[in-house]
Amino acid sequence: MSGASAPSTIGAGQDHQVPARAVRGASPAAPSPDALSSPVDDASIEAVIAWFARSGRDLPWRHQGVSAWAILVSEVMLQQTPVVRVLPRWQEWMSCWPTPADLADAPTAEVLRRWDRLGYPRRALRLQECARAIVREHGGEVPEGEETLRTLPGVGEYTAAAVTAFAHHRRAVVVDTNIRRVLTRSRRGRALPDRSYSAAERSLAARSLPVQQERSVAWNQAVMELGALVCTARSPRCEECPLAAEGCAWLAAGRPAPEADTRRRQAFEGTDRQMRGLIMALLRGDGIANEMQLLALDPEDSARVQRCTESLIADGLAVREGESLHLP
Ligand code: SF4
Repeated sequence: MSGASAPSTIGAGQDHQVPARAVRGASPAAPSPDALSSPVDDASIEAVIAWFARSGRDLPWRHQGVSAWAILVSEVMLQQTPVVRVLPRWQEWMSCWPTPADLADAPTAEVLRRWDRLGYPRRALRLQECARAIVREHGGEVPEGEETLRTLPGVGEYTAAAVTAFAHHRRAVVVDTNIRRVLTRSRRGRALPDRSYSAAERSLAARSLPVQQERSVAWNQAVMELGALVCTARSPRCEECPLAAEGCAWLAAGRPAPEADTRRRQAFEGTDRQMRGLIMALLRGDGIANEMQLLALDPEDSARVQRCTESLIADGLAVREGESLHLP
């Protein structure tokens, strides 16, 4: 992902923030119902690519000459984490482990330490397994082709497509939450994508992808950035959007509220995920924690501490030795 996934809900009362000037100025013709799922047209693609050239962020993994490995690492880090938090960690990882061979040889405890607070630390383990597979099976070079990429540990449909597009500059259907949101609004006229990613959505993204290789890469990058910066989940800034003038279906329909959306953001406080993060932070600090230190993390709920400790061990993120826990 070239930017972070934004929350996937829209707050109530945010549906009328577009200045009248922007809506009237754009004068988009309301698309016919059939057009709501028609692919993005050439003029819209050009407008979004031109917007990106003016307004896209200067992120280091987008620079010329950045290796496919560095791009793969950025894509994995960005999957659950905002750009601002990823930047320092990615830079540190690249200076410590600029190639798959470097990460493959690194002590796993050090890999987890340098993952720091990016969250979902299993991603760090999978990245190291991925690096080892690249060294073992591909001579230390990130392989080409989505199918081959998907054989690597931790590389799924999204990452394989993103590496193919952004590292190897090939045509690939890249779909992240930002792209889903832009396509859902602009083509289908709905405030939010469906809860699960459907074949129809993938088809819309595939049909919208320019045929020309170079243009397809530019479109993927630009539409993803548009979703991250302008067509955001909570406060889309349609007055700044290049698609407003090209006929965004959701804008033309008066920005209707989301359909009944039962999605709720899970509270973090008190969850096992929070406790796993606390335990990992303790281990990153001293490398080891004894039982008293662990139980002190939640004196009221020792069962939660024990449950989370066991799950970290099961995930390969921690190892028990006597009564102590340490990084692998
Ligand atoms: S006009 Fe508004 S809703 Fe439509 S794509 Fe742009 S930001 Fe999103």
